[in-house]
Amino acid sequence: MIKSFDFNGLFSSDHGPVDSKLQSAASAGHENEDGNGDGHRSGNGHGNGDGLDELIAKNRPKPETEITGDSGPRILWGAPVAKQLYDWCRHWHDLYLARVGRPVGLGVVRVGDDPASQVYIGHKRASAEALGFAFFQHVFSGQEAPSVIESHVAAWCHPRSPVNGVIVQLPVPDGHDKFSYLGAVQPNWDVDGLHPRVRSPFVPCTPLGCLALLRAYRIPVAGKHCVIVGRSPLVGRPLAELLLTADATVTVAHSKTIDLAQITRQGAIVIAAAGKRHLLTPEYFQSGAIVLDVGIHRQDKPIDGGKQLDALSDDSVAQPDGRASVKVAAGTSGALSGDVDPQSYQDLGAYSPVPGGIGPTTVACLMVNTLVAAYRQHGFDLQLPDLIASAYPCRGG
Ligand code: NAD
Repeated sequence: MIKSFDFNGLFSSDHGPVDSKLQSAASAGHENEDGNGDGHRSGNGHGNGDGLDELIAKNRPKPETEITGDSGPRILWGAPVAKQLYDWCRHWHDLYLARVGRPVGLGVVRVGDDPASQVYIGHKRASAEALGFAFFQHVFSGQEAPSVIESHVAAWCHPRSPVNGVIVQLPVPDGHDKFSYLGAVQPNWDVDGLHPRVRSPFVPCTPLGCLALLRAYRIPVAGKHCVIVGRSPLVGRPLAELLLTADATVTVAHSKTIDLAQITRQGAIVIAAAGKRHLLTPEYFQSGAIVLDVGIHRQDKPIDGGKQLDALSDDSVAQPDGRASVKVAAGTSGALSGDVDPQSYQDLGAYSPVPGGIGPTTVACLMVNTLVAAYRQHGFDLQLPDLIASAYPCRGG
């Protein structure tokens, strides 16, 4: 049992100091590594630099996915951005492990058997384990009473639980109320930032990933007209808030918007998050626009469990954004694709590809949020990585 924590050594780091206004860590010991015992724990419990290096190396874009020459638009790959965030995570997680004596824990609750969810959880698990986090998953068939599922979520959000961040993987099956499950996540464990009733201390990971990508490629947003296509609580709405905070002028379009192309053509920066494959064709963009494509669509092969799912899961170790294969060029048959028609690319200033753009940064931001949650649960506020620090001006936890 850990009686007390000595974080003094943390102040000398290049990765930013622990906020010294906070008091010495609570001495809440974590006697039971297995918590309530019903989650599946994996991971080696130690910072695993080699595993992470391998993950990043595999995720690096392959030459055959490069689709432009020097004079074409810039491709905003997510992998190098994710690497910066993972480096930050690795540093702080090693210190956490050394002082707390156990790894940071990420817990995922899945209800039902949505195949795509299983793949996405695989990506989160691969990244968590590569960092040395403990990963827990609890799967409900969907036949259980909602109160049973809520109780499980609530039990994970406890100082003695080995879980520091809790995700309810969406979607949940028809007939289930996702808000009741998301509402059972205590705000300090809400690393997806999706609590339906209180303002979560965490920013949702996909908007955070978009911001990190823009910052990493030094694309200024202040004063720019940013058009977001999509107003979901997961992507569009929190992203609008982030961009407003960054002094952009923001327009949010949605399914009832009239003459979408006329709106998006005004955007110096356009973020596509409608969930409609190839919705945005060349006439939707002004020349030289910067385009982030959040949408993910699987072409040709519906995910159908069994072998096919295994193949995707294996690949997901290398491809945290879920791309089916790095050997096929973005936008071609058999690959994943986004909301932006690749025919639009040639006249753009820059774009994030699908696969390989927003996906990797999203998963990396989830790891950052989980680490921040763990430190906060011990009474310490980490200074966030520069790439996303500006996103947290008023979410102190
Ligand atoms: P959602 O279905 O909850 O929301 C879609 C939004 O798009 C809605 O606000 C809707 O009004 C709007 N919309 C739909 N059709 C439109 C149209 N024709 N014109 C204008 N607006 C339209 O979806 P979501 O959860 O926000 O996800 C959006 C997409 O992003 C999906 O493809 C999803 O798979 C993907 N996604 C990717 C990541 C990632 O890590 N890259 C993470 C989350 C979601």
